[in-house]
This record gives sequence, C-alpha cells and structure tokens, in this order.
Amino acid sequence: MSTGTLRRVVVVGNGIAGLTAADTLREAGFDGELTIVGDERHPAYSRPALSKALLLDGDDMSSHELPPAGHGASELLGVRATGLDLDRRLVSLDDGTALPYDRVVLATGSRARRLSDLPGEVTLRGLDDALSLRGRLATGPSVVVVGGGPLGMEIASGCLAGGCKVTLVSQGAPLILQLGPYLADVFIKAALGQGLTVVETAAARLEGSDGSTRVVLDEGGVLEAEVILTAAGDVPNTEWLAESGLIAKGAIPVDERGLVRPDVAAVGDLAAFPTPQGLRRIPLWSSAIEQAKVAARALVRGDEAPPLRFQPYFWTEQFGVSLKAVGNLPVEGEPEYVDGGPGGGPALMRWSHEDGTGDAVALNYRIPIPRLRRMTRAAT
Ligand SMILES: Cc1cc2nc3c(=O)[nH]c(=O)nc-3n(C[C@H](O)[C@H](O)[C@H](O)COP(=O)(O)OP(=O)(O)OC[C@H]3O[C@@H](n4cnc5c(N)ncnc54)[C@H](O)[C@@H]3O)c2cc1C
Repeated sequence: MSTGTLRRVVVVGNGIAGLTAADTLREAGFDGELTIVGDERHPAYSRPALSKALLLDGDDMSSHELPPAGHGASELLGVRATGLDLDRRLVSLDDGTALPYDRVVLATGSRARRLSDLPGEVTLRGLDDALSLRGRLATGPSVVVVGGGPLGMEIASGCLAGGCKVTLVSQGAPLILQLGPYLADVFIKAALGQGLTVVETAAARLEGSDGSTRVVLDEGGVLEAEVILTAAGDVPNTEWLAESGLIAKGAIPVDERGLVRPDVAAVGDLAAFPTPQGLRRIPLWSSAIEQAKVAARALVRGDEAPPLRFQPYFWTEQFGVSLKAVGNLPVEGEPEYVDGGPGGGPALMRWSHEDGTGDAVALNYRIPIPRLRRMTRAAT
C-alpha cells in the first residue's frame, strides 16, 4: 500500500491517541486531506493533569495544555461520530453529514464507569469535569471518593490539599491491586499522614433520595458528604461502532500494528492489542501514544511498518509522593535498592525476574524515562 493511494484519512477522537495518530501520519509522509472529529469542544489536552496539577488550587490553569497541533488537519470539534460504514468507507456524524475516508483511525477512548445514574455521582474524565470539580472544591466541602485505584487516590490527594475533609472508600487496601503491597504501603502511609480517612469494604453502592446521594457499604455502613465522587474504572466509547461488527468484549481488537483491517486502525483506550497476556486494553497515556504511532505508520506503509513493542510506563503523584514505573505492575515482594533506601527519601528500585529482566521504579527520584527503561533489561 503506498501513500499514493491515500487521499483522505479521518481520525475519530481528539484525545492523545487521535492527536498522536494525526501527527504520525504526517511524519510518515501522508500529505492528503486529514480530518479529526472530536466530541469535546476543547483542543486535545493532557488528561493525566486533570487529577494532578489542575485539581490543586493556585495552579496557573495551564498544566493540562499541550503544544498547538502541527498536523494541519481540519478539526471538527464538538462533533460526535455516530456510525461507521465499512463498505462505503463513511463516518457519519451527529450533524447529519458523513465523512468519506480511504483510511480511518478509531480513537474515541473511554469514559468513567459510573456506579449509578444519580445526578449526585461526580466522576472525573474530561476537562469540563475537572473545572467543575475545582469550582466545587473551592469552598472546602466534605468529600467521599469511591475507588482506591490511582485515580481515586490522586483525586483524594487533590481534595485534601484543597482543605477538604476526605474519606476514601476502597475494595481492600488502596493501590494494592495496581502497584502491589510494597509500593501501595508507601502511598497509604503518606495519605494517612496527611489526614485521609480510608474505609475498606467488600463493595460499595450509591443510593439517593430527595437530591442527596450517599455511599452504602456492603458491611452495612452509610457515608454521606457534600461531594460524592467515584473513580471506578473506565468503559470504552464503542457505542457509535455498534453496527460495525468490530466490537469484541466491549473493546476493538487489533493486530500487532494496531490495525483492525488494512484501512481501519483502532488506538488508545478503546483498543485491545496483543500482549504476552493475550489481547488487552492498557488504558494508559504512554500506551495510547505508542499504539497511535505504530498504527498511523501501518496505515501509510502497511506490513513494512514496525509492529508494537510496548513496555508499560506508569506514573502518579499523590500525597507528596511521586512514582515512575517501567515494567509490569503490580510488583510482589521486596525490591533491591539501586539508589537510596526505604524510609521515604528519593529511591530507585528494581524487582528482578528469573530471566534477568526487571521492573524499575523511581520514588520521589528525578530520572529520565529512558534510563528507567534501561534498568529493566537483563545485564549482558
Ligand atoms: C483524570 C485522569 C487521570 C489520568 N492519569 C493518568 C496517568 O497519570 N498516567 C497514565 O498513564 N494514564 C492516566 N490516565 C489515562 C490516560 O489519560 C488515558 O489512557 C488516555 O487519555 C487515553 O487516550 P485516548 O486518546 O485513547 O482516549 P481519550 O483521552 O478518552 O480521548 C478520546 C476522545 O474521543 C472523544 N470521543 C468519544 N466518543 C466520540 C465520538 N463518538 N465522536 C467523536 N469523539 C468522541 C472523547 O470525548 C475524547 O475527547 C488518566 C485518565 C484520567 C481520566
């Protein structure tokens, strides 16, 4: 497949996956008509910043901004894709029009998984959610956060820093599932030290009446607060593809180049790609970027383009502790300290595997990501 046969590419979704795909199409030599459709009215922005710097009072309100896009695409913002016709190669839009394409990139990401349809349930997924939450936090309300993963903990941290009384409801100890006990413990200690109340439960649900919302625990307790926020995972935005036949187990399965078929790529949070553990969604920022780069090149160059060689990278900042990790979390057991040591200071750690490779973690430690990646390799 040469670029000569390619005149029109449509990218659906203006998050980091869509933006990266558009930039990479240009880098790969595509100079035809490029259109990006995004249902948010904002230009692409950094979603991870929403639960970090942007939540904290006094931020200059630009932490989420990305450099202006250089791909020169026509950007249709505030426009939703409603359907995909694979035979006629058309993306239909909610304004009643349809965009023809030679290649299409599906990059509509995911949304917050809600625990109820109560209006009092607050979630944080988009910039508008973050701005609205910031506004509510300004008066220092009481907050219950349901969800002890990285997102729930980051939000709890931001609310505490903003002077709110915060209770975090978690199935088991916070962060254990995502980070493993050793690293989770570092964050739990920091959170408790800053005044977070943690309530562990087997399950929590939301109930509401007369406009009020409360959290009901399986064990029988009830929690009330002025703000009830849930951070309970994400759901891929695939509904607009319901008729396409492309959805499997709620996601879009792709091959090792991010392709569904030669003219269709799917990238970012909605795509399930091949990993050593099978087809998986890995809804992380770096995953979206890597997938989008590979898939955009494959749309232009076909099988000549290199396949995805993805190594997970994750970071978080909360309760005054920052973590960067390359490799497969959660980690079990104790690390070897490459620099620093236990006790809360800056530390560089490695969890080693039998084959000599390892997972590398930096806690409160300034280190370029490529160096952290090198630490995961087996010694030669
Ligand atoms: C608050 C928050 C903090 C996070 N922090 C981290 C972090 O610290 N580290 C990390 O690795 N990851 C983090 N993540 C995850 C990371 O942000 C996502 O993995 C990443 O943004 C996925 O990018 P994407 O482009 O696939 O999807 P999205 O960012 O969801 O972008 C998809 C876009 O498509 C739009 N869209 C949806 N449906 C349609 C439609 N039918 N038509 C047109 N447009 C549509 C959506 O509105 C959205 O704008 C965080 C996520 C959240 C919500």
